[in-house]
Amino acid sequence: MKQVARARAKPAVAPKIGFVSLGCPKALVDSERILTQLRAEGYATSNAYADADLVIVNTCGFIDAAVEESIGAIGEALAENGRVIVTGCLGAQGDVVRNAHPQVLAVTGPHDTDAVLRAVHDNLPRPHDPYVDLVPPQGIKLTPKHYAYLKIAEGCDHRCTFCIIPSMRGGLVSRPVGDVLQEAENLVKAGVRELLVISQDTSAYGVDIKYRTGFWRGRPVKTRLFELARGLGELGAWVRLHYVYPYPSVDDLIPLMAEGCLLPYLDIPFQHASRRILQLMKRPASAERVLHRIAAWRAACPELTLRSTFIVGFPGETEAEFEELLQFLEEAQLDRVGCFAYSPVEGAAANLLTGCVPEPLKEERRARFMAVQQKISAARLAAKVGRTLVVLVDSIDSNIAIARSSADAPDIDGVVTIRGAKRLRAGSFAEVVVEGSSEHDLSGRLAA
Ligand code: SF4
Repeated sequence: MKQVARARAKPAVAPKIGFVSLGCPKALVDSERILTQLRAEGYATSNAYADADLVIVNTCGFIDAAVEESIGAIGEALAENGRVIVTGCLGAQGDVVRNAHPQVLAVTGPHDTDAVLRAVHDNLPRPHDPYVDLVPPQGIKLTPKHYAYLKIAEGCDHRCTFCIIPSMRGGLVSRPVGDVLQEAENLVKAGVRELLVISQDTSAYGVDIKYRTGFWRGRPVKTRLFELARGLGELGAWVRLHYVYPYPSVDDLIPLMAEGCLLPYLDIPFQHASRRILQLMKRPASAERVLHRIAAWRAACPELTLRSTFIVGFPGETEAEFEELLQFLEEAQLDRVGCFAYSPVEGAAANLLTGCVPEPLKEERRARFMAVQQKISAARLAAKVGRTLVVLVDSIDSNIAIARSSADAPDIDGVVTIRGAKRLRAGSFAEVVVEGSSEHDLSGRLAA
């Protein structure tokens, strides 16, 4: 049985999808579901290959003759249109389809409307229709118009002993790369100038789905941070990476920062420097190697800003181990640092460790830690006095603009205040000559 959906009058801008439905009534119902969802989302259907922007072939794989008919139908759609998504029973045998027709855009199995819709979104994004859509294409955002958080995954596969996030949010689930890039593109089109990439474990992006290939702008893109970063870099906005677990693969991102594809900024929690404490935390355990890597990153990208977080007073932390952490800080010369006194969270594995550090001692260590870091931060900011920096303006207060450079993430880092900034507006970029510095912030004037 072969049916081709009838076209109906649609707005000229609606993308058109041709649909070939093969097989039994169960497959027919799957086709109806897919078409219903596509129509609900504003896609049009077409009964002519030449008129369609893309063709979906819902296949049958029941007997050899049905397989042959399906393979033939895919071949016909490819010859007549060229852009084909395959679904249905034969789609469950992806190799059979891909061996016969390697140029198909995507292959999904039976009863998987979501996967078909994802493949359609990846290859034929639906334009926003202001007369039909109730929300803008970038969604509802609580951040200022010029920056937005871009969540790329949920959950975490690590088991850091101080953390209960994996038990609350589950293991890593990466969003399809096409969806993420499309969301980012919509945000930039809506006026966003800075994308803040977040997740529980940003560098693990795609591990859970074996770096599956998705599609964006009609081309294949691997679900992996490197490829995602390169795609985001094409959008012309600042791209800032947060919560990057210190995997070896992070090294590959540094050249992207050096060439301007990503902001030269890495938010990478190291948590401690003592090998024994890191092992108790179930974190990567080699301060020496971290120092070596930091030196290599800075050699490859001298503009790099490093932000990190640490925990002091972890169960069993000795004075010598804390001193080791201070020594690491002096050597690492990190730009931005947050420090937490360890606090036991109900359900965390670390609660079972012995050697609880008394509260006053935890606080004392935190204060000592911050005193060391404040000197480092202040010196690193003072070294910027006299330089000209590009900044993104967050707000204007009479004649003073509050802005941020590539070294400043919103809310957690410092700011650059600019005097004589009447002509600037929030969301605009400016060049600033740095004239002053403090422990956290810079101040300056507009460059000539
Ligand atoms: S601290 Fe971060 S990496 Fe470790 S388990 Fe929690 S969410 Fe995962």
